[in-house]
Amino acid sequence: MEIALIAHDGKKAEMVQFLNAHRDILEQKKVQLVSTGTTGKNVKKAGFEVNALLSGPMGGDAQIAARVAEGLCHMVLFFRDPLDKHPHEPDILMLMRLCDVHNVPLATNPATAELLIRAV
Ligand code: PGA
Repeated sequence: MEIALIAHDGKKAEMVQFLNAHRDILEQKKVQLVSTGTTGKNVKKAGFEVNALLSGPMGGDAQIAARVAEGLCHMVLFFRDPLDKHPHEPDILMLMRLCDVHNVPLATNPATAELLIRAV
């Protein structure tokens, strides 16, 4: 199963914390991780294997959206920062829309991600 990880700058530390707290599940279930670029760098530093795509503003969210549309990605954990502005807001909306189109579980905050990861 492939899970996509995206964290806005103000949420990257929380993403790493979240992954560390669920390392066991991720390893046991042989989850493959894919991410946007800078999120991926942080996740790699924490010792996880991850397929890091382009940085979000350069098209990384759009690449993940394409994976959702093609049926390659089965869950999206997207720690959004609602208190910041994002130049790639259209891509973010596209990703969330495609999750709904293809009925792919999408968590936009750690509390929801917690519930989803327990269901893996
Ligand atoms: P980033 O992108 O991981 O490259 O920072 C996240 C985002 O979509 O803002």
